[in-house]
Amino acid sequence: CGIVGIIGVRDVEEQLLRGLEKLEYRGYDSAGIAVFGSEGVNVFKEKGRIAALREAVAPDASASLGIGHTRWATHGAPSRRNAHPHRSAGGRFTIVHNGVIENYAELKRTMLRNVSFQSDTDTEVVAHLVESLANRGLGVEAAFRTALSMLRGSYAIAMLDEADPGVIYAAKQKSPLLIGVGDGFAGIASDAMAMLHLTNEFIEIMDGETVTVTREGAVLKDAQGKEVRRTSFVAKLNV
Ligand code: GLU
Repeated sequence: CGIVGIIGVRDVEEQLLRGLEKLEYRGYDSAGIAVFGSEGVNVFKEKGRIAALREAVAPDASASLGIGHTRWATHGAPSRRNAHPHRSAGGRFTIVHNGVIENYAELKRTMLRNVSFQSDTDTEVVAHLVESLANRGLGVEAAFRTALSMLRGSYAIAMLDEADPGVIYAAKQKSPLLIGVGDGFAGIASDAMAMLHLTNEFIEIMDGETVTVTREGAVLKDAQGKEVRRTSFVAKLNV
């Protein structure tokens, strides 16, 4: 399973699919992408091979950012319905996630009683949590950080906000995720392999940090929202 997110490139769908193909070795049962195009966020997902997803994707020439996911099902059968990305009930937030949200059932019961769920995954609670916090007046970064603080378990997460076509939000806890930066390009991925076709310059993310990725680069913050500075490293290739 794996995650990739990219911003500031042409043919974003193709770049995401290439990234996902590089993550195939990690194993998966379904795959999906969400792309921010001229009409807002579009989601494509399929059970089975990335080749099947590729067939289903309708490219949008105006799109320049998106997130992608290969799923290894832990909660909910391998199916198109349970494939990521997942959207919040109001449609504002779109999320991909690797890992396990151990307290998802409790969060559903306590925080999200009135939400109708579209999948059987543990992941979907995260999208609804962020939206319900944003609806209560929190800014998106604060809503994202607060939602994450309520989760128990492991995650690498990437999120799109329909209200802001220029940002990918990301975070990790006990699951791999790193930032890739280039000229007018930035991205995140579970493995550098998934971005090597775009850059060889990377920045580590630590557990508990949140990242806002724009085409200018990435801003890291700690769990309290304080900015963290970290220098990038260049991946050495052993090919
Ligand atoms: N627990 C999530 C699910 O079952 C994510 C699985 C994964 O890491 O791909 O959908």
